[in-house]
Amino acid sequence: MKKIAIVDDVLPNALLLKGYAKRLEDVEAVTFTDPVKALDWCAENIPDLVMLDYLMPEMDGTEFLKRFREIEGLRDIPVVVITAAEQKEALYSALQAGANDFLRKPVDDLELIARANNMLQLRERQLELAEANERLLILATTDSLTGLSNRRHFLEKLSEEISRTQRYGRPCAVAMVDADHFKSVNDTYGHEVGDRVLKQLSNLMSGEIRDVDCVGRLGGEEFAILLPETNVEGGKIFCERLLKCIREAEIDLGETILRYTVSIGLTEVCKGEVKTDVILNRADEALYVAKESGRDRVAIHEMRCAELDALAQNVMT
Ligand code: GH3
Ligand code: MG
Ligand code: MG
Repeated sequence: MKKIAIVDDVLPNALLLKGYAKRLEDVEAVTFTDPVKALDWCAENIPDLVMLDYLMPEMDGTEFLKRFREIEGLRDIPVVVITAAEQKEALYSALQAGANDFLRKPVDDLELIARANNMLQLRERQLELAEANERLLILATTDSLTGLSNRRHFLEKLSEEISRTQRYGRPCAVAMVDADHFKSVNDTYGHEVGDRVLKQLSNLMSGEIRDVDCVGRLGGEEFAILLPETNVEGGKIFCERLLKCIREAEIDLGETILRYTVSIGLTEVCKGEVKTDVILNRADEALYVAKESGRDRVAIHEMRCAELDALAQNVMT
């Protein structure tokens, strides 16, 4: 059911318009003689259309529109302003303040219905567009197999978090996670089972992180985790917990139970550091060490921030 708010300080006028609006399909009309109450109701209920009498003693249509458009969720709601034929200036002013259409008094019922229908269609298109945009945003930012942030979105989040980290002088850890011997999982059980492992692994990681953290699939069986407000010591505790949880997970294949592990490379964002690729390369180097030293473990990048800072100082002097 679509909602129309009718605002007119003269009750019989408001009721007359409501009577006309009853002829619109699938519409519920609510009348207001007090513009302030109307604004409150609109903020709460987000109508699909507003019919607004321009001349009201408490607040004229321009002022109403100004306040209306500032309210969250009402910026694009269609408003039809109703003016008397001699109020030309008022009409210009209302249109400039964001009215979408107008009706002249005395209001002709068929014209009202036609204009209201047009505006309701506009609103419907708006909602469809907003929904399509939302779907596109999800497509553009998530990985379709796992539902995690995709590489591009993860890098964006990382970049934003680095800026925040630097601005407030806070710690931030970054972990690179790679499934162990994943090729043999595919080779032994097939690609579909491999995909099941990737999905379960993604769920496990999502389940272990906090709200402010972010997991992304960088590609294939490689993931990264952003841990804001976390230093490398805290990050290590997190990674150990994650490793345990993955080690204990099972995939039931009927005749056999599949278990798997991951290796993790961990690093932290150093003071003044801004480049995402430098940070991820460090996590990758640590990941390589974790792989080389036996897998199913976390390795911290051996060059810690203090040393990297010293190195940077030497380069500068
Ligand atoms: P390591 O322990 O050294 O990481 O060994 P690995 O076998 O995991 O590493 P390698 O990089 O040699 O192989 C990665 C494998 O991951 C190969 C590729 O077929 C598989 N893979 C990448 N993306 C997907 C995917 O989306 N689904 C499935 N099922 N497999 C994938
Ligand atoms: Mg691997
Ligand atoms: Mg790999």
